[in-house]
Parts: sequence; structure tokens; C-alpha cells
Amino acid sequence: MARLRFKAVEEAQSRQPVKVEIPTGKVTEYFSSNTFNDEVMRAMLSPEAYMKVTNAIKAGDKIDREIADEVASAMKAWAVSRGATHYTHWFQPLTGGSAEKHDAFFDITMEGKAIEKFKGSALVQQEPDASSFPSGGIRATFEARGYTAWDPTSPAFIMFNDAGTGTLCIPSVFVSYTGELLDSKTPLLKSLSALDKAATEVAIIFDRHVEKVSATLGAEQEYFLVDKALFNARPDLIMAGRTVFGHNPAKGQQLEDHYFGSIPPRVNAFMVDFEFEAMRLGIPVRTRHNEVAPAQFEVAPTFEEVNLACDHNILLMDLMRKIAKRHNFEVLFHEKPFAGINGSGKHNNWSMGTDTGVNLLGPSTKPKESLRFVTFLVNVMKAVHDNADLLRASIASAGNEHRLGANEAPPAIISIFMGAQLTKVLEDLENKEIVSIDKGENAYIKLGLNRLPSILLDNTDRNRTSPFAFTGNKFEYRAVGSSANSSQPMIALNTIVANQLIKFREEYDAEMAVHEGKKEEVIVKILKKYIKESKRILFEGNGYSDEWAEEAARRGLSNVASTPEALKAYLRKDFIEIFEKMGVLTEREIHARYEIELENYTKKIQIESRVIGDLAMNHVVSTAIKYQASLVQTAKSLREMGLEKEAEPVISIIREISERVAEITKLTDAMTEARKKANAIDDVEERAKLYGTEVKDFFDSIRYHVDKLELIIDDEDWPLVKYREMLYIR
Ligand code: ADP
Ligand code: MG
Repeated sequence: MARLRFKAVEEAQSRQPVKVEIPTGKVTEYFSSNTFNDEVMRAMLSPEAYMKVTNAIKAGDKIDREIADEVASAMKAWAVSRGATHYTHWFQPLTGGSAEKHDAFFDITMEGKAIEKFKGSALVQQEPDASSFPSGGIRATFEARGYTAWDPTSPAFIMFNDAGTGTLCIPSVFVSYTGELLDSKTPLLKSLSALDKAATEVAIIFDRHVEKVSATLGAEQEYFLVDKALFNARPDLIMAGRTVFGHNPAKGQQLEDHYFGSIPPRVNAFMVDFEFEAMRLGIPVRTRHNEVAPAQFEVAPTFEEVNLACDHNILLMDLMRKIAKRHNFEVLFHEKPFAGINGSGKHNNWSMGTDTGVNLLGPSTKPKESLRFVTFLVNVMKAVHDNADLLRASIASAGNEHRLGANEAPPAIISIFMGAQLTKVLEDLENKEIVSIDKGENAYIKLGLNRLPSILLDNTDRNRTSPFAFTGNKFEYRAVGSSANSSQPMIALNTIVANQLIKFREEYDAEMAVHEGKKEEVIVKILKKYIKESKRILFEGNGYSDEWAEEAARRGLSNVASTPEALKAYLRKDFIEIFEKMGVLTEREIHARYEIELENYTKKIQIESRVIGDLAMNHVVSTAIKYQASLVQTAKSLREMGLEKEAEPVISIIREISERVAEITKLTDAMTEARKKANAIDDVEERAKLYGTEVKDFFDSIRYHVDKLELIIDDEDWPLVKYREMLYIR
């Protein structure tokens, strides 16, 4: 076994950066060149078809049959001219990733002649074999089949494989025949439309020209890279995406020198390569850098409309996985691939922008606009406060459980960081008297609203430990897991903010009816109330500290570390009501999603548990026993030579190995029993709970003994690639 490890290490160490050839011209020359974008449509479609598609994109208008045929034919001609041979509807089933089923553009006629086929009907609707996608019981009881349907708001794109052939991918929604939503995109689109409506109603209080509000998302993506050979020598990485064993290296993260260090050449080549491919797909990747942990990196795109940004993030992850292989890397999106070392997140930078070009969470230099800014800010704060458990549920997963509320990780408490200045503004707004606010700008100054511009300038008081932080002109939802589909947290956030903005508008209208039109006063009055009601969610200190957990408990904030527990929030009556009222998900769909999440969780823990059992017994214990046998020989020889004292340390190592082997064996057997017990339970909820407690409880204790053995067994014999070998990429 150890032979495999050393071979892999040698292979990894001898690698050179893979040469990457990208055009020397400007980015604008190839940006979006693999997408069926606005420019292409304008050139290839009749003015009427172009207008209809544009309206479908902007206003959600329906596209009729003839137009669909024209678009399909243009799309096919464009795709074929760029080297595509197949097409597929590209959608996001509830498994988390994306799915595709490729059909060739070409068909064979009865006479054996090749023809090209791709009609409007194939563009608009497809029937993948849906029965193998999770549906949480919906399809079992009602309708077994589903269909995918074109989402014109996200441009079609061509994905090339390493052989150089391409597939036209058509972003699509996935719905069952009975109308239930079986994917991530459809409820996301619905939540965006709910938010658009609600936010527009509030935005027009400040500017009647606003007709549309779009939510925006910039998802910073963290990831680890591991050499392919080393990855393949670690069955846990292959099976579970994370290392279940491994002792910390002598030089761990303590030095934090990786964060500021230069990017290793092999990694740089990989980045240049996938960034180029991403740009061609219209994904605006912008920044790249090392992250805190060794072998950890980050890529961040420029923000886009949320639906597009979610598609682009999924696509980017896919691209990175593929292109990493070209560079002899595997990319790890798991939230916690290595114990004792930082995990990975996906920081969801979120805001709302109007069609008049205003960022509703952007502070302004003008007092009146400042009132608009605090109105949206406080409404988001109130929404997060009132629905914190739902937000927590939206980021709950087996992987993220290692990040939230576990060791070396932020707590599972949802709190908001505002920064010192903004906190002061909110305090003033809450406590200062409203004195004739309608008489000029003095009143705003009294309320502290004149100070807002300086917030914009001061980005320094960042808080890296906050799960939900205001960062200048947007909120950064930092607690999202690195492997997550951003749609889940975005659906929750859009929906609760939409719901809150509707409430605000209702209160505003009711107050205005009795206040004879003094709108600033009315707004401030409502905001004062909101701040009072929700300020306990604000926290500026160190979110990782024990004091915060205690303080949060005193404040009555939830702190749910367990995934099955956190997911339960989905079933809360008030949350179901909000989803239904906002037209995002029905109760049945929520139940289905809840079950799917629980099943995903159970499966992940089950796989990890099996990997742990296998590695512990077949790799670690067997190696330990062999090594122990050689020690026994040594001890025996020493004794035979009369060297009793010299034999003592050897004997004590023999004893330690015996004890640890006995412990590991006992714990592994007990874990198998716990798994059997959990498997015998039919109820998904109960089974997930057992996996999360009784099965998972063994993970750390088994690991403890295995990691101790790693320290005493001869390095020459140790079968698993060590942390120090995996984490340092040259
Ligand atoms: P920082 O250095 O504060 O993280 P960046 O400008 O690098 O700020 O932004 C981080 C991420 O936030 C990027 O993906 C960026 O596009 C995104 N972002 C910036 N403004 C907005 C916005 N109004 N809405 C959504 N995301 C935004
Ligand atoms: Mg970051």
C-alpha cells in the first residue's frame, strides 16, 4: 500500500505546469463567444423574433411556436458553425449539480442519409427520463414523468469537451407533468419575480420611474486543489470528497503565509485555462487569489442578475472540475476537506438594483436617497431576523455541517454584521426624535442620515467571522457552503425579503392614510419599529468566540448545528405560508424538498461511514499489525541479547499499537451496528437523525486513534498520503 503512496508523491512532485495557449487579443474579443448572446441573436434573427425573445427575457412574455422554430433554427446554425454536434437541455435537478442528456443534431433518414434536425419544439420542451432524479415522493405518488423547458433568460451556450466537439446547452427548468417543481431554477425564478414586484412597490415611493427591480449576485467561490495522483491514492477523497483521516502537518495553517504568497505556477496555469474557458461562456470571472489555507484558492466573478449568476456558478464549478484534470489536479469543492485547516465557503454577495440604475443597498451622498437606502437595509435586516431559521435551513448540508457550528468554524447562528458606522446610524435612527423631517435636510442630519457617504468609503471594518455581513453596497451571505447550488439560499433570501417589503408597503399605506402624506415621517416611524424589533440579530464581535454563542443564547437567537435539525425549519407553518403567499413553492413541494435534503444527508454520512470503516480496517489496522509484528521481533531479539531495558520503549510502542487497534476495531464494529440500526428505519426523518448522531458520533473517535497511529507507525509503511504531501503544491 505504501508503495502506491510513494509512487503518487513522486509523480506529483515531478509535475511541470501544463502549457496553456490562449489568444493574445483583448478579452472582449472572445468574451461570451460560446454563447447565443444578444449580439448573435440580433444578427441572426428577424427583427420580430429578436423583439419577441428580448421581451421574453425582460418581461417574461411567452414565445409562440413560429418564433420558437425560428430561434431554434438560428441557434442550431450558430452552434453547428462553431463546432457543436449535439444539443441538450441543461437543468438543475435537486441533486445539487446540473444534468444533461445529449441528442445529436443529426439524424439518419430511412434512406440512410444524414439530416440535421432541431425544431422549435425541441428547443422549448424536452422529456428527459425523469424517474432517476430525486423527487421526494412526488413522482412516486402522482406523475412519473417530467419535462424540461427552455429558460430564455439565461443564454444557451456551447460546452466543448477535450476531444474538441461541442454540445449546445440550453438552460432549462425541470417540472413534473402535474406541475410540481423538481429543480432549483424554477423556484428561484419565482422568488426573483416576487422580489421584483415587492421591491418595485417600495422603490416607487422614492422614485416613481422605477419599473423593475432585479436581485444581483456575485458568488465568491473557494476551493482546494490536490494533485490527481495523490487524490487517486486517497479513497476517502474519491468517495467522500474529504479526508476522513490525516494528522495535521508540522507546518499547518499557523503561519498563514499562503494567503499572501504567490500562486504556484501549476495552479496559475490552471486558473488561466479555466478563466479563459469561463470567459468564452460569458462568465465574468474577475479575481483570483490564494486563500487562507495551504492549497486553497478563490475565484470571484463580477456580479450579475441572480438567475444568471447561479447558472454561471454551477457552470463554472463544472468547468473547473473538467479543466483541473487537464492540469493533473482534482478540485475539491467540499466544505471541509481537511481537518484542522480552514474550510471553503461560497460567499453570496447579494443586492437589488432598479431598472433606473440604482443599487438599492448603495449608500448615497444625498440625504433623501439615504432614506431609501436605510429603508431597504432595515427591511432586509428585519426579514433576516424574522426568518433566520429559514435562512439557516437553506444552507444546511452534510458538508456545511463541518463548517457551521463544528470545530474551527463559524457558529450556526445567523447574525448580521453592519460595521461601526452603520450601526451608529441605525442607533440614531432608532433613538433620535423625529423633528419636522419634512422641513429640509436638517432633519436628516439630526437622524444621522447625512453620514452615509462615509460608509461607502470605509470598507475597512470587515468582519470575516460574520455569516451575513453588510459590505459597503451589498450583503455578503458568507455561511453558504462551497459546494452548494446558490439557488437554495437565494430562493430563501429573495422570498423573505419580498414578503417583508410587502408588509412594509402595507404598513406604509395604512400610516399614510392617517398621516396626510408626510411620507418621510411615516417611513422613519416604521423603520424605528423594525430596528427595535430586530436589532438583537446585529453582532459586530468575533463570531467564532464562545462568548458569542453564550450571548446569542441570551438573546434568544437560534444556534442549530445539526443538519436534520436545521432542515426542520422548512416545515414550519409560518415559512410554508410565506413560500405559498409569495408563489414560490407549494407545501407539497417544500415537503418533497425537505425529504430530498434529508436523503442526501443520510447518503453522504452513510458513504463516509463506510469509507471510514474500510480505511480503518483494511488500510490502517492491517498496516499497524504488520508494523507491530516487526517490533515484536525487535523486542524479542533485544531480550535474547539480555537488553531488557532497551526493549522497554519498543514494548511500550507495541502496547500502544495494541490498544489503539483494539479501540479502532471496537469502534468500527459499533459504527457498523449503528448503521444497520439506522438502515432498518423507514422514516426518512428518523433515519437522517440517527445517521447524524449515532453513526456520525463514531467519526471523530475512530479518527483520533488512527491519527495517533499515523504518528508512531514507520513513515515507510503508512498507506495513506499524508497531509503535508497533499497540501503543498509547488
Ligand atoms: P470585496 O473586495 O468587498 O469582496 P468586491 O468588489 O471584490 O468586493 O466584490 C466581491 C463580490 O461582490 C464580487 O463578486 C462582486 O461582483 C460582488 N458585488 C459587488 N457589488 C455587488 C452588488 N451590487 N450586488 C451583488 N454583488 C455585488
Ligand atoms: Mg473570500
